[in-house]
Amino acid sequence: MGPAAPEPAPACPPGDACRGGEWMTASLMYHDLVDPGGWDASGFPGPSAASYKFEWDEYERQLRALSGTGLRFPRVDALDGEDDDACLLTFDDGGCSAVEAARRLEQHGMVGHFLVTGERIGTPGFLGAADVRALAASGHVIGSHSHTHPPDISRLDARALAAEWESSVSRLSQILGHAVDVASVPGGFHSTLVARSAARAGIRHLFTSEPTTSVARIDGCRIHGRYALQRGATPELVAALAVGRGGARARQWLLWNLKKPAKRFVGPAYRWARRRAFGGA
Ligand SMILES: [Zn+2]
Repeated sequence: MGPAAPEPAPACPPGDACRGGEWMTASLMYHDLVDPGGWDASGFPGPSAASYKFEWDEYERQLRALSGTGLRFPRVDALDGEDDDACLLTFDDGGCSAVEAARRLEQHGMVGHFLVTGERIGTPGFLGAADVRALAASGHVIGSHSHTHPPDISRLDARALAAEWESSVSRLSQILGHAVDVASVPGGFHSTLVARSAARAGIRHLFTSEPTTSVARIDGCRIHGRYALQRGATPELVAALAVGRGGARARQWLLWNLKKPAKRFVGPAYRWARRRAFGGA
């Protein structure tokens, strides 16, 4: 069955995240994949991080459902703006399950974008430098997910913000031997200043957690929203988010924007609760 007609994108949320959308491309946000019950085996530990992890057999069923949509799953730097039939698959944090996650993508002819937390490279539960090189050599995209994964990157001052992007891009470029120009914003704390700082560090494609297909541009950097995949997401829901079917995108947009005021305005209490639950991830 070919892709269904995409549902209309919901109106852009107020604020800057979606301003000036010129492309429409769906992106999905994965994190880690684990064996049953092994929630802390890959990526950041703790229950909040675990709510974004899937067991391997669920992931396999989701990949089969995605494969059945008729969409393409290319590299972001291969898009040309006329990509109604494309969906980008992203994996945040740089957990060690990325190696096997990528192998399974390859079996389905799909490409992944692996966004790596710079200072975690080579630490327990995360990718090593050789893994990062091997993923890139297999045709996947390697990008930055900041250097330290701060609790709220949008609240850093300009110097600290620049250091987050520059340190991680520099570390990844050294490992890979070529420039790194793709990144994702940790924790969903996107802002115009976060994007401007990423652009100054050479980022040309920045993935946020805003649930939108609208791709905006800030200082020459394309800003791609993403649909988050959380534990309990069925293969049908994952495929519906990729294709734009049955109101799945609109529901995620509504939930995200209902939650957003709590994130922004309850700020310190939210971050305290998040750190306690999430251990800084
Ligand atoms: Zn993250």
